[in-house]
Amino acid sequence: MVIGISTFDFQLSTFMSLLVLGTVAFDTIETPFGKADRIIGGAGVYISWAASHFHNDIKLVSVIGDDYPQAELDALTARGVDVSGIEKRAGEKSFFWAGKYHMDMNSRDTLITELNVLENYSPVLPEDYRSPEMLLLGNFAPAVQMEVLKQLKTRPKLVALDTMNFWMDIAMDDLKEVLKQVDVLIINDEEARQLSGQYSLVKAARTIREMGPKYLVIKKGEHGALLFYNEHVFFMPALPLEEVFDPTGAGDSFAGGFMGYLAKTGDISHESMKRALVYGSVTASYCVEAFGPNRLKEIDDSALRARTLEFLSLMDVTVEEIR
Ligand code: AMP
Repeated sequence: MVIGISTFDFQLSTFMSLLVLGTVAFDTIETPFGKADRIIGGAGVYISWAASHFHNDIKLVSVIGDDYPQAELDALTARGVDVSGIEKRAGEKSFFWAGKYHMDMNSRDTLITELNVLENYSPVLPEDYRSPEMLLLGNFAPAVQMEVLKQLKTRPKLVALDTMNFWMDIAMDDLKEVLKQVDVLIINDEEARQLSGQYSLVKAARTIREMGPKYLVIKKGEHGALLFYNEHVFFMPALPLEEVFDPTGAGDSFAGGFMGYLAKTGDISHESMKRALVYGSVTASYCVEAFGPNRLKEIDDSALRARTLEFLSLMDVTVEEIR
């Protein structure tokens, strides 16, 4: 397998600016190994921490209540994430989600989704948010994802989107509308099946790509991820981990690492996306090692570099000839 990563340059760079939309939330998480009550979470938070290991020109748009700790926003700012696009609503509560993982840690049930500030949220992008070169529409109401797109002055070079079953259940038509404008869709296998109505992921990918996205990434938890583009299918395993503590945010961390790498290099070719899948997987592998985004906050370049090498050695095979 050749994916062409020859240098491990984790120096931050800002080849293309990256705008991120995603929830900034509180989560209650139950896994077979423990429970964490009302900890920091949200797709926008995981994405930003993940992408900040590659890139330091990230702008985050979201909404919170006055219950969200300022110190968490300051920590993001210190990582090069501009949080001036996060609207703070006095007297309201931040988005809250509670989920419980099954024994295999690959599947979970949503126990509670309290939209709170997300109800009636209509984003207003600050002036300096309106011309990003890359856009990651993280998990959010599809109507809000569309609103962000509408407020941009120019179309970004790459638009990626993540969503989940919750929005497919209540806003499928809006989601299909926004998908028409998306280049890369990043979802998990269950979501791909729900969106397409197809069990076979190959058929699902064909159906979904007809909805708009040229590229489709299907995440399969501990079983890796698939990248579909035209008739090509590329497979990336996940690192077999000794400790999986809390998978929450793994999908968002994957998307953040993936887009952070693409924005850092400015290369949005198919080959570059294959490499981005490595960095997305490496970043997600750290996320699951602790509750919340804690591991993503701790790691540094040398940790990422070491795990990237470990990761590549998983696929260290040269096929000379197939008989
Ligand atoms: P992931 O495990 O990558 O799917 O992401 C989990 C994060 O998504 C949690 O931190 C939640 O706060 C957030 N989340 C859960 N449900 C939703 C939703 N319906 N819309 C947006 N974000 C959500």
